[in-house]
Amino acid sequence: MKARLRRLLGTPLHPLLERDIYLSHRDLPEVLDRYERGDPFFLYTGRGPSGEVHLAHLLPFELSSYLQQKLGVEFWVQVTDDEKFLFQGALSLEETRRLGRENLLDLLALGFDPKKTHILFDTASIRSLYPLALKVAKRVTYSTAKAVFGFTPQNNIGSIFFTAIQSVPAFLPSARAGRPVPCLIPCGIDQDPHFRITRDVAEPLGYPKPALIHNRLLPGLSGEEKMSSSAERKDGVIFLNDPPEEVDRKLSRAFTGGRASVEEQRRLGANPEVCSVWALWRSRFAPDPKEFAEITRTCRSGELLCGECKRRLIPRVQQFLGEHARRRADVERWVDSAIVDGPPGGTA
Ligand code: SF4
Repeated sequence: MKARLRRLLGTPLHPLLERDIYLSHRDLPEVLDRYERGDPFFLYTGRGPSGEVHLAHLLPFELSSYLQQKLGVEFWVQVTDDEKFLFQGALSLEETRRLGRENLLDLLALGFDPKKTHILFDTASIRSLYPLALKVAKRVTYSTAKAVFGFTPQNNIGSIFFTAIQSVPAFLPSARAGRPVPCLIPCGIDQDPHFRITRDVAEPLGYPKPALIHNRLLPGLSGEEKMSSSAERKDGVIFLNDPPEEVDRKLSRAFTGGRASVEEQRRLGANPEVCSVWALWRSRFAPDPKEFAEITRTCRSGELLCGECKRRLIPRVQQFLGEHARRRADVERWVDSAIVDGPPGGTA
């Protein structure tokens, strides 16, 4: 698959593709075939606004930004403020809406073409979402939703209907164009079940089955398998709004694949595959393939020690966050005009 992507996108591929952070897919060749026959696909990914954005949240947006720049395709993003309100008891709707807009600024600051970016902000874009959501909902039984998402009698009824809302962005561009428009969804591998229902109902509704491309999960800095909300509680994530001293503190304490002593590491080398610092080098902080290969080689050989490795990484992360904050301010100028049906109002 990578050879085919290199022919289409150029060499080297984005590190996320070249270094197997995107590791699996569903129906990607079909979407590429159609693109090469002059039938472009659109990208769709989403964000559930339950808190601030951290580095792991960037992965699907970073791939989307790269593919939009390379192929000029349209990008649709869904902000599920309704989902986080329904599923997370402690969050008010006002808060998920506020977080949704803040998160959008963070994610779109990775670089998107405002003319080709469309935002479905669920509670604001509901006029466009609802008719299609009804068509999806009519085809999904409660027992299917229960089997996929594990609903229990304690779940509120809104969370069950949300399944239909989440499917709509995969079909809306086709509905608007009046012809089938292929869809590619970049998402974390753990999100794959969420799109099972979307793929199941696509063809019965007359739309193409959306293709998926899955990223592996970025590990937490405290050694967790995933940079997630449980990692957040243990300083295991880097937020995009972390100040430089916080980045320094978190990375200095990050879990590594190093040995118990310097002597042992010099002698036996370290294990980058289990290291949260190496995962950051791999994802975005060593874009030069030669530098990344050198970090990996010297880590394994024991020439590079973890303290030095972290000291090299910290200023890279700080610089990225500083530049990102400036780009975020640019997005503020156009984000509201990209929200389908207009931005969320002041009252929920
Ligand atoms: S040298 Fe760097 S990449 Fe290797 S285990 Fe230590 S911190 Fe991780």
